[in-house]
Amino acid sequence: MRDWCASEVDPLVIVSGEGPYLFDSEGNRYLDGNSSIWTNLHGHRHPLIDAAIRDQLGRLAHCSALGFANEPAIRLAAKLVEVAPGEMLTRVFFTDDGSTAIECACRMAAQYRERVGERGRRRFVAFDGAYHGDTVGAASLGGIAAFHGPFASAGYEVTRLATIEALESLSSEEAAGINAVILEPLIQGAAGMRLWPAGMLRQIREWCDRHGAFLILDEVMTGFGRTGRLFACEHEGVTPDFLCLAKGLTGGYLPLAATLATERVFGAFLGRYEEQKTFFYGHSYCANPLGCAAALANLRVFEEEGVLESLPTKIAAFSEALHEAAERTPALGEIRQLGLIAGIDLVDPTSGAALDWREETGAKVCRRARRHGLLTRPIRDTLTLMPPLCVTADQIREAVHALEMAARGE
Ligand SMILES: *Cc1c(COP(=O)(O)O)cnc(C)c1O
Repeated sequence: MRDWCASEVDPLVIVSGEGPYLFDSEGNRYLDGNSSIWTNLHGHRHPLIDAAIRDQLGRLAHCSALGFANEPAIRLAAKLVEVAPGEMLTRVFFTDDGSTAIECACRMAAQYRERVGERGRRRFVAFDGAYHGDTVGAASLGGIAAFHGPFASAGYEVTRLATIEALESLSSEEAAGINAVILEPLIQGAAGMRLWPAGMLRQIREWCDRHGAFLILDEVMTGFGRTGRLFACEHEGVTPDFLCLAKGLTGGYLPLAATLATERVFGAFLGRYEEQKTFFYGHSYCANPLGCAAALANLRVFEEEGVLESLPTKIAAFSEALHEAAERTPALGEIRQLGLIAGIDLVDPTSGAALDWREETGAKVCRRARRHGLLTRPIRDTLTLMPPLCVTADQIREAVHALEMAARGE
């Protein structure tokens, strides 16, 4: 907060956007290099999404989802079931953001075990470096000390593992106590864009099937095309028992989230009132009609503009630009890329060694990148680039160039 409040650090005030660009109060233009913290997909002020929200606003901004339905929510639930991976995910529960989508999945899984008499299955397997959100329950699943450390004693009972091998070496007794395995498929975001070994997701699905555990996939970051497919789990042909979606769900317009679940889970909550099988969970703005209208328009843009089909060329241009930059610039170390997501480690340009995080080099480089027309945030000394899917190959090259110049101290 001291840095933020210091007079020499002018907070940038963003006043407008257009496509992949944002404009500040002084009229400077920046490429939105992290998609407004991993949310925006088709650019700012997309005509179709803008119109869908305005149209919905002309009818109804919000009504409760407790005991009522609304049209955009009905349509969106049907659409999500249609585009979801596999055939198993047939039920949709709406919440507000990534953290609550995770809470919803975990509490459904926990109540499911209670309902079906599997009270021994209490533990969640979560991975080192994981990030699942900031509410206490979601944070307790996280594997980054800064986020979950202070709450380690609260939240879910967690078995924290580092690798698939560690999962596979759990004893059958331990395995029988596992409710669900939760992870960010293929790539961990907040850990610094860390890639999982190829094939691991499939192995985890198989482990879950062998041991009767649920698989909860957190596609809050990876969902909606970021990895080149609509959902990251499609790369390994895996369908989870719970799929958590947020950030890109509305194209980066409004806070809305969805937890998709299976018919089997849904069935455990069916009963007469006195059986008390109710899922006691919900938020005031669940199934908000404006958010659902934006999400429907977001999915329409994917179809009408052939967004997924446009990605391979952009991903290839991204890859080429990143590797050329790293070859030219010794301050850029390891690059990890999946689709339009990249993490670039900053290193000491002479020795190639990792930097001292206290120097805040990542933050300094990103601040300098503004002068080259790029906005993004580092994760400590890992630079991140995750442009909206609507960027052109030229804009991708500009973004990489901006980071490269900034990393060279220019
Ligand atoms: C951002 C994020 C969350 C939390 O989402 P919020 O909308 O910020 O609550 C959870 N999981 C992953 C993988 C995320 O990237």
